[in-house]
Amino acid sequence: MQIINDPAEMQKIAESLRLKHQLIAVVMTMGALHEGHLSLVRIAKQKAGTVILTIFVNFRQFGPDEDFHRYPRPFEKDAAMAKAAGVDYLFAPDAESMYPDDFQTQISTGDIASGFEGEKRPGHFNGMATVVLKLMMISKAHIAVFGEKDAQQLAIIRRMVSDFNIDIKIIEAPVIREEDGLATSSRNIYLSSQERQQATVLYRSIRRAREFFIEGIIEPEKILEEVTAVISSVPDVKIDYASIVDVESFKEADTLEANGNYRLLLAVRIGSTRLIDSGMLDNRSIQTDV
Ligand code: AMP
Repeated sequence: MQIINDPAEMQKIAESLRLKHQLIAVVMTMGALHEGHLSLVRIAKQKAGTVILTIFVNFRQFGPDEDFHRYPRPFEKDAAMAKAAGVDYLFAPDAESMYPDDFQTQISTGDIASGFEGEKRPGHFNGMATVVLKLMMISKAHIAVFGEKDAQQLAIIRRMVSDFNIDIKIIEAPVIREEDGLATSSRNIYLSSQERQQATVLYRSIRRAREFFIEGIIEPEKILEEVTAVISSVPDVKIDYASIVDVESFKEADTLEANGNYRLLLAVRIGSTRLIDSGMLDNRSIQTDV
């Protein structure tokens, strides 16, 4: 595995791979790698001969009161994990090379970015989309793999790819969870052992929502009432939002049709940690429990 820090060098390597007809897949992360990230690498390896993993803690997608400075950056460990997972190129630029002093162009995301994470974290999605576009241009990848856990992010990236005619195939990967159901996340290390236990309520509430969906309950508000009750039964867990959206439009659903595709979106605060999770409400996920 080669570690590359310079965007121009990465781009040059990507271009020579393309000239050799190599298929390139990229997995973009902020590091502090875990099983969720590695599952994306595994999918990337199935789809392409060359896998580029990017690690960049993008300050432009953090708000002033967010955890940019304390975000974990265990680079040596990440590099070892990436190498063991079969990554070909680890691209880890610094902020100055990604955003030189004269940098000034930004992606302005639209409607699907306005609610949920976009509302709670102003500017987050513009910063995210800007770096994703840059990393697509630098990696020259044919394929990019993203996790369904960040469902709104994924929908925004799909929109951007379509709106800008970007020649890249987006693949979505299912949420990877710990044995007790908590989605693996770089931010889980912020949780105390008690908070870690409390955090399992996210997945329990997703399962409860699915049970309601299977039982044929078609009113989103009834399901959300139950989700809220399940989460509120755990002390110190505060709901930022809990919503059911149509997966295509990302609009809140009025009623749930039996053959529709919906997603439950959750964001909670446990102590000083903010966690998000999401689960599909459709027949496929009911059977496979993703
Ligand atoms: P992050 O490093 O948190 O920005 O995440 C980088 C990529 O990994 C994104 O596409 C995430 O959706 C994905 N990801 C993060 N956690 C998980 C997980 N538990 N399961 C699957 N994918 C994940």
